[in-house]
Amino acid sequence: MVHFCSVGRNLTVLHGRIYSYIGEVVVSVNPYRAMNIYGRDTIEQYKGRELYERPPHLFAIADAAYKAMKRRNKDTCIVISGESGAGKTEASKYIMQYIAAITNPSQRAEVERVKNMLLKSNCVLEAFGNAKTNRNDNSSRFGKYMDINFDFKGDPIGGHINNYLLEKVGVKSVFKCIFQLVKGAPDAQLRSLHIQRDPTAYTYIKVGGQIKVFADFKAVTDAMKVIGFTTEEIQTVYKILATILHLGNLKFGSDGDVTLIENSKLVSVLGDLLSTKDENVEKALLYRTVATGRDVIDKQHTHQEASYGRDALAKAIYERLFCWIVGRINDVIEVKNYDARVHGKNTVIGVLDIYGFEIFQNNSFEQFCINYCNEKLQQLFIQLVLKQEQEEYQREGIPWKHIDYFNNQIIVDLVEQQHKGIFAVLDEACMNVGKVTDEMFLQALNGKLAKHAHYTSRKLSPTDKNLEFDRDFRIRHYAGDVVYSVVGFIDKNKDTLFQDFKRLLYNSSNPVLKAMWPEGKLSITEVTKRPLTAATLFKNSMISLVENLASKEPYYVRCIKPNDVKSPLLFEHERCKHQVEYLGLLENVRVRRAGFANRQTYPRFLQRYKMISEFTWPNHDLPSDKEAVERLLQGCGFEHDVAYGKTKVFIRTPRTIFSLEEQRAEM
Ligand code: ATP
Ligand code: MG
Repeated sequence: MVHFCSVGRNLTVLHGRIYSYIGEVVVSVNPYRAMNIYGRDTIEQYKGRELYERPPHLFAIADAAYKAMKRRNKDTCIVISGESGAGKTEASKYIMQYIAAITNPSQRAEVERVKNMLLKSNCVLEAFGNAKTNRNDNSSRFGKYMDINFDFKGDPIGGHINNYLLEKVGVKSVFKCIFQLVKGAPDAQLRSLHIQRDPTAYTYIKVGGQIKVFADFKAVTDAMKVIGFTTEEIQTVYKILATILHLGNLKFGSDGDVTLIENSKLVSVLGDLLSTKDENVEKALLYRTVATGRDVIDKQHTHQEASYGRDALAKAIYERLFCWIVGRINDVIEVKNYDARVHGKNTVIGVLDIYGFEIFQNNSFEQFCINYCNEKLQQLFIQLVLKQEQEEYQREGIPWKHIDYFNNQIIVDLVEQQHKGIFAVLDEACMNVGKVTDEMFLQALNGKLAKHAHYTSRKLSPTDKNLEFDRDFRIRHYAGDVVYSVVGFIDKNKDTLFQDFKRLLYNSSNPVLKAMWPEGKLSITEVTKRPLTAATLFKNSMISLVENLASKEPYYVRCIKPNDVKSPLLFEHERCKHQVEYLGLLENVRVRRAGFANRQTYPRFLQRYKMISEFTWPNHDLPSDKEAVERLLQGCGFEHDVAYGKTKVFIRTPRTIFSLEEQRAEM
């Protein structure tokens, strides 16, 4: 299925054949070395060709998606999945590059501008959304779906980006932009932000570890300028990053019952950066305004509450900043002045670069969301692949036979069903007034899901030593079993930022910052509506993502990470086998095997293979191309491996195709 070359005990990808197909799905193995296969000459080789005419390549799938869009006026999408470090983001960039290279032959200025914006936006998004982790030096901490819009000529005229679940700053990873700022910003700028050149001076950076690449500060700032961020906006962006670094260093102490800020000099630094009075900053950090009946009182935070608030603030302003940046980019790249009545339908290619299935030593709320997302995408995959196959067979008059596969809808329901699903139980726990603990949430799950075939916990399965009492539950995902610890689920789902902080930011005299926090306008007595929980927001965004993808013709890229040490030489068998399983590739192969690996229209088939048969070379004299193809395949002895549809010949096994290709090459 995947072509590798065996060397000793390790299988390596030495031949550089990093791509393979399952039907029209590209399987890609990260080579962990620069490959000379993305240049102009390679682009030319794939441009306008059919999938099986050239060795497997990303460009072939990009071209297929583009052709379908252009020739058949269809919206298409390319779904790229795989675990962290498997090569998804690189793949999405090569796909964009390919599309940029094959479009706008007449060099229209407006189209070139759009292309430039799309490419520049990548640079900014990577700076703010990527971080160094121990799995990938340039790990995307958010899922990204990008639409590229095309005009009737097939040239890009705009785009739109959606982002999903940004992992929070200061938790596990430090975003690239923060290093770029500390290491790359000019001295004067750093001074105005009260930042030292030394990254080790900042607690949040220490948590995340060092990174080597910093030189891009200027490139990112320039990219923001090109995209159209104003000077004030860019300054505010860096002020926010500096605020986050200073917040991380803020220490609380206590004097008797009174909670204090130990390094109070930082308060005025924060006041300066946030364009607000120092006393407002101090008050928001140490007190909470609460409404008790008709009275409004200031309640002092405990030491612990103040620390929690500080970290929540840092996370929230980073998340808000990121979403704001995405919004600003969208303002600029969205399609403008396109009149479909004049120019014909505007079509779309969507590119989804999203985290694959995650199974760690400790799995928490984030892994739960990510794995739910993969269940949704798998469900879509099953539906679409089966649906597409079925429709094509019907159209071509080929009998359809039932394919046995695991339908993961049951797991999707387990998570997202109303009232009974895990998200619903979690939301209910979070709605309760009074203290609800993570353990109580687990008990509620046990009550609701005791009989579910894909859910278990220690209480339900007392002999299972791999599960901790009152802490773990296990989901049997389509891709394998994952144990989740409920610790932190309630907090992460509530994702609360004290209203006092929102007010603080809204009351800033910096208009850019103020505009980012409109909800700070409400005073404590006016805040009545509970904000949607993280789970609900994520679920809603997944449902609309899947609806959007389902309306398009999908193409898939499945990325595989060959080892954990970023080595170009090591191919760890077990590791890859595991990924093949959880990417659903086995299911995929099964579906393809039950059907036909390849299909081509009769004229196209003849054009490619007519030279291998005396009946068809140089031309046939049979009444139709269909009969000519039948004769050719009989002559080769392949008649048992094929079926003849109305307009296409269907070939069951790839072996037959390879054999035809070999015979062709020998001519
Ligand atoms: P994450 O989920 O953490 O964002 P990812 O799947 O997006 O991971 P990438 O950032 O695309 O992973 O790839 C990780 C690294 O692997 C790249 O920085 C690069 O060094 C290498 N790599 C990936 N794909 C290729 C490729 N086609 N050619 C050469 N190197 C590659
Ligand atoms: Mg990535």
